Amino acid sequence: MTAAPESSLQIDVFSIFPEAIDGFCSYGLLGKAREAGLVTVRVHDLRSQAGDPRRSVDDAPFGGGAGMVLLPGPIFDAVESCSPPRPLLLLGPAGRLFNQEMARELAEQAASGSGGFSLLCGRYEGVDQRVVDHLVDGEVSIGDYVLAGGEAAALAVIEAVTRLMPGVMGNDASLVEESFADGLLEYPQYTRPSVFRGWAVPDVLLSGDHGKVACWRRAQAIMRTIEVRPDLIEARGGLSPDEVRLIRQYGYAGDLPPQMQGP
Ligand code: SAM
Repeated sequence: MTAAPESSLQIDVFSIFPEAIDGFCSYGLLGKAREAGLVTVRVHDLRSQAGDPRRSVDDAPFGGGAGMVLLPGPIFDAVESCSPPRPLLLLGPAGRLFNQEMARELAEQAASGSGGFSLLCGRYEGVDQRVVDHLVDGEVSIGDYVLAGGEAAALAVIEAVTRLMPGVMGNDASLVEESFADGLLEYPQYTRPSVFRGWAVPDVLLSGDHGKVACWRRAQAIMRTIEVRPDLIEARGGLSPDEVRLIRQYGYAGDLPPQMQGP
């Protein structure tokens, strides 16, 4: 008999393309987590709540203008007929910017008893404002660009949160070292062969000296973050004196503005 998972995550998704969500969530890490009972993804077809034989879920905007708007009726009916886990979050460009911190919040809430969360995918020009005002608990954006629908955004949220749930990753240690875990990007990774097309892997990684490998990786993570995402260094309150010493030791000769140096 398989032991019941310590904590499981329930995610309900409302969409006019349920197969797109269900299909994606059947592969890889997500698929395995579903099979193991660590995550349950229930997908609700908004069209099943349409009130006409053509299963219409959209209509023209009052006041005129381009495109169509998702009707409030089928969305309210779909949500109210199944009591989905809260918060119910609408995917939309006007929402809170989704990031690793928010993924962590949703995973922690689920692990500590909320059970999970739900996602509502917009389409066309979006949803009737009364859905925003009276049904959902918040809005989430995955970036400053406009998608054709909320499904791709919902999948990004589902995957980012699920991999943080206890037991989902084969090796939970990879969560500790990966990008954003400590306000830094991850160090560069290499695998076989040790020389590929004349490009060799850094010697230290072949040395077998775990202490040296750890120092090299830490220095690389800091230098890479300074290079491509200095905003992350500032957001974590700068570098500690030890971190500054470490990157100098590994040859970092660039200027470090005051906001990158910690207290
Ligand atoms: N008319 C809307 C606007 O200008 O803000 C854009 C609607 S968009 C074409 C259709 C749907 O895609 C939205 O309702 C939302 O669910 C989803 N969507 C688009 N961009 C998104 C983003 N950056 N993050 C999350 N969802 C997004």
